[in-house]
Amino acid sequence: MRITRIAAAAAAVTLALGLAACGKEGTPTPSADGGTSGAPTSDACTSSGTTFTPASGVAIAGSPTFEKIKAAGKVVIGVKFDQPNLGYKDASGKRCGFDIEIAQLIASKLGIDPAKIEYKEIASANRETAIKGGEVDYYVGTYSITEKRKADVSFAGPYFVAAQDLLVRKDDTSITGADSLKGKTVCSATGSTPIQRVRDQKLTDKIVEFKTYSECVSQLLDKKVDAVTTDDAILKGFAAQSPSQLKVVGKPFVDPATGKAYPEKYGIGLPHDDKALRDFVNAALEAAFTDGTWQKVYDGTLGKSGSAGSPPALEKY
Ligand code: GLU
Repeated sequence: MRITRIAAAAAAVTLALGLAACGKEGTPTPSADGGTSGAPTSDACTSSGTTFTPASGVAIAGSPTFEKIKAAGKVVIGVKFDQPNLGYKDASGKRCGFDIEIAQLIASKLGIDPAKIEYKEIASANRETAIKGGEVDYYVGTYSITEKRKADVSFAGPYFVAAQDLLVRKDDTSITGADSLKGKTVCSATGSTPIQRVRDQKLTDKIVEFKTYSECVSQLLDKKVDAVTTDDAILKGFAAQSPSQLKVVGKPFVDPATGKAYPEKYGIGLPHDDKALRDFVNAALEAAFTDGTWQKVYDGTLGKSGSAGSPPALEKY
């Protein structure tokens, strides 16, 4: 009787979560190919096939975020939904990609069942606010670790390092890198590090911004903009979806001070003062780096965008 009641309550919670998720996630996924061949198919969802089994008896002394997760019996994770092989939701509503699996890996280490993960789609410009306001417990979505953002949130990682590049139409030979953008219309996402770099360096005065990169890609396919700029990891995913129409220039933006590509170090965004959780997540990442899980996840997801990868060095602070 008691068991039945608990089971019924659990089912009700699951149902409620499911309904809440539907309400939140009811927005149609924009077509990455600009609507020229319909919505992305479920084939666009890449997965490593890893099973993330929840750890048992997890305790994180001094972590208010973990206490909140435990009390709620669920974790709320901020993600992207339109970045192929990274943070993606296919036409059937399935979420997949490298960031999604990293998010699931962390949830499992926290002892959370995959069914108790609630995803919230948060655009680049709204990440700090969402983390600060407790709208999400953590964020996994091509989120670069920067000193400026560290004033508002904290980061575990990095778990990947990307570089800024350009996505153009396949037949465009006039755009060859950052120094060929004068007079060109360049699109990127509001609140992102790449758009800021284009502005700071005055690479062009024709800058168009949207909340998401998929909107920029639609504009590129419709010839309303000449290039999309952001991390190569993101752009390669879009190019892989429309290989006959788009290409990545393949010339990373270089920092004149170092002579190297500006590193876009992907971190897991966490509440600013939760050092206990940051240490825990870093340890979880470190274990995945060394036991082969990271590699398996990468190869099955982001690796499908066309580049080999290996785990970066963690920056514990
Ligand atoms: N990694 C860059 C950033 O955090 C660009 C990608 C994004 O907007 O998520 O701003």
